This record gives sequence, C-alpha cells and structure tokens, in this order.
Amino acid sequence: MIKFIENEQLEMINLIKKLVNIDSGSHLKSGVDKVGEIIALEFFELGFIIQEVKNDEYGNHLIIKHKQAINPSIIVLAHLDTVFPEGTAGERQFRIKGDRAYGPGVIDMKSSLVVVLYAVKALIHEGDQGVKNIQLVLNSDEEIGSLTSRLLIEREAKGKKYALVMEPARKNGSLVSSRRGKGNYTISVKGKAAHSGIEPEKGRSAIEELAYKIIQLHELSDLDNGISVNVGLIEGGSSVNTVSDHAVAHIDIRIAEMDQAEPLEEKIEKICSTTDVAGTVVSLEGEINRPPMEKNKKTEKLLGIIREIGDKIGIEIEDTATGGGSDASFTSALGIATIDGLGPIGGNAHSDKEYLELSSLIPRTLLLATIIQRLSRS
Ligand SMILES: [Zn+2]
Repeated sequence: MIKFIENEQLEMINLIKKLVNIDSGSHLKSGVDKVGEIIALEFFELGFIIQEVKNDEYGNHLIIKHKQAINPSIIVLAHLDTVFPEGTAGERQFRIKGDRAYGPGVIDMKSSLVVVLYAVKALIHEGDQGVKNIQLVLNSDEEIGSLTSRLLIEREAKGKKYALVMEPARKNGSLVSSRRGKGNYTISVKGKAAHSGIEPEKGRSAIEELAYKIIQLHELSDLDNGISVNVGLIEGGSSVNTVSDHAVAHIDIRIAEMDQAEPLEEKIEKICSTTDVAGTVVSLEGEINRPPMEKNKKTEKLLGIIREIGDKIGIEIEDTATGGGSDASFTSALGIATIDGLGPIGGNAHSDKEYLELSSLIPRTLLLATIIQRLSRS
C-alpha cells in the first residue's frame, strides 16, 4: 500500500494546492461549496454515492459512502470550511518552503480532505473491502461551532462503532484522545441608578452585585479536575458618579467530563439565585454547548489498535488532550469510540503561519488507510 501512496504524492500536493487556493471561510458559501464539489467528484469517480445536504446560509454538507456500503461501522468526520475571510487565498496562495507547505486552511483541514481521499484510493488499489465500511460526513460550518451540522453528525453517527476525526495531528504528531467540553453563560444584573454624590443611599449598585458573583463563580474552577470558570468579559454602569443600574458578565466554562456538567450548572444557578446587594435582580442565561470528548475505555481500546498499527508501519503513536473543541465531542458523547487528530502533522492553525509538514502526508495517509482496513476486519 505504501508504494501506491508514495507514487501519488505529487497528485496529493497538487490537489491540496487547488483546495487551499479556494477561499472557503465558513461564511463564504460559494467557496465552501466549490471545495465540496471537487471532493465529491473525486469520490463519485471512485464509486461512491454523494448525498448533498443543502444549506441556505452556509455551505452544503456532504454525506459520502460507497455504493455497495451496507451499514458502515466507521464514521469519518472532516470539515470543508476555514476561518479565513474572503480574499485570504488570493493574498496568501499555497506555497512550499523547505519541508512545509503554507496557505489558508492547509492544515485545518484541506490536506486532511486529501488524506481521506487517498487513503480510500489506496484501499481500492488493494482491493480492500474496508472502503464499504466507512461513511464520510463533510460539514461546512465546523469553524463556527457546527451550528447547522451537529444534528446531522449525531444522526449519521448513530449505530456506528468508530469515529475517526480528521483534525490535524499535533505539532509533535500526537493524536487527540480527549477534549474539554465548553459552555457559555451570561449574567445580567439590574440595579437602581442614583447620583453618587447627592443621594447614594437611594441607589442599588449592579456592579457591586456582579463583583460578588464573579468572585463566587471563579471559586468554582477546579483546574486539577479540568473544570475552569472564567468571567472573560464585563460591562456595566453609565458614569463614574452614578450608582450603576446595570452590569453584565460573559462566562466561559470548560469541563473534562460530562458528569461534571450538571453539578457545575447547578452551582452556577445557585450563585445566581440570590443577591448580595439588596434590591438588585440577577438573571442567568446559557448552557454547555459542546460536550467533552472523554478518554474512556472504548477510546483506549481503539487507541490500542491504532498503536499496534503504528508499530507495524513505523509510526510511533502518542495521544494527548487538548482544550479546544471539535466535532469529535459529538460522537464521543454518543458513546462511540472516537479518535481525533488523524490528519497530517502541522501547526499554527487559524493564523497566517499555518503549515503542513509535507513529510507527514504519506505516513498519515497510510495510517488512516490501515486503520480503516483493520477496523473493517474485526
Ligand atoms: Zn479544523
């Protein structure tokens, strides 16, 4: 299989170049659709059926599986969008310098799309039946929180045994076995305005009330156990000599395990159910919107299989945790053995220094193909 992939390297790089040079920020429907069409056509020519899930505002999502597929046990997740605004591809065209390739979305995750395609080509070349055991979901809005694709991913993932998520490998080549979950809350406090020089006793300070809340909220952080509560943004008051009649705080919370969600939510609600400054009113809005990707027994088992494969093909498999979110959280929360970071190696995603480690292209394509092959046998 390695020989086949090696021979395709130039074609792979050419396709990455073509995809990188198309602007496909999440908000640029035409560009995201164009990237989707190029990938869809490639798979169509390999005997795959493409189901396009139309989307008015963002790019269309694609569900792709082999025409002879019966109940695939593997779902492969990759996204078509990038974080970059229109015009970026024009300013920063794909280019190679030394061992690295640069350009918007080169590692997150246009080269991952190409890795999936060529892993499938390699399996077809081998006559391997694994190609009938995968179902691809390519979504268009991962970079803005998978607003219109979350339900689709969850629906398509149902009944699958494995989820392979194509976010890039870490800079050191590590796969990703856990991610923290994330939630956002907003606290609004209403007070009563009064002139602070003339009749301060008539005022009820919303800012003072919010200050009490902030202290209590931050005390909920438990970094050793992966819980963080951060009030990252506050606003309030109308002038320096007025007792403030309004104040707002925006809170980002992170959790390591789903079991932490409910107790934490209850504590936040409890803090906001009372007031420390009499006469103020506190209201709370928000929720946990990305569940954590947990490294559980199923993940460990899948990781064990991938490690064995790595040993055989000469890739040392390490895994790591990260705080950032991805669609892996959704399949993981459904109880599906999920491994992320199966794309090629690179770094500086979401910045103008984003790069792909070219030497990782062939090994990671081989790794993915062999994982699919192996999981389809058992
Ligand atoms: Zn990504």
